[in-house]
Amino acid sequence: MPNVRPWRFDVTLTAQRIEKRRLRRATGLETLVDMVAIAFFVLGSIIALGLVVIFPLWGLVASGFAMVGAFLNWLLLRCLAEHLRLQKKIAGCEFEGAITGANEETIWACGNCGQMLHSDNRCDSCGAQIISDEI
Ligand SMILES: [Zn+2]
Repeated sequence: MPNVRPWRFDVTLTAQRIEKRRLRRATGLETLVDMVAIAFFVLGSIIALGLVVIFPLWGLVASGFAMVGAFLNWLLLRCLAEHLRLQKKIAGCEFEGAITGANEETIWACGNCGQMLHSDNRCDSCGAQIISDEI
């Protein structure tokens, strides 16, 4: 009975330690950089809004510059987070978040004419009735 725990420890019982793996979750730096990027963008937007409210004429110009600055800050930090993700992916490490850009997706095409299907029942191009294979 290997799973039953004895009510007293048997001091003569010996065992070797074995290595086991478990995933330890910790916030990755790429996620932290992403969060700082969003926080800076929100802060910059609040400052831009405040400039317009406090200084009606020149505040508009300053607000525009503040918005551009907030956007560039956000863009730079997002690029940094993306770079960390790409480096981790290349190194074979686990990374958080998603790498932006083109992703592969599955679309359905008509087996008769090869055109992309917009409906589950009938091909818009050749009029063939689509037979579902998942029943
Ligand atoms: Zn078709």
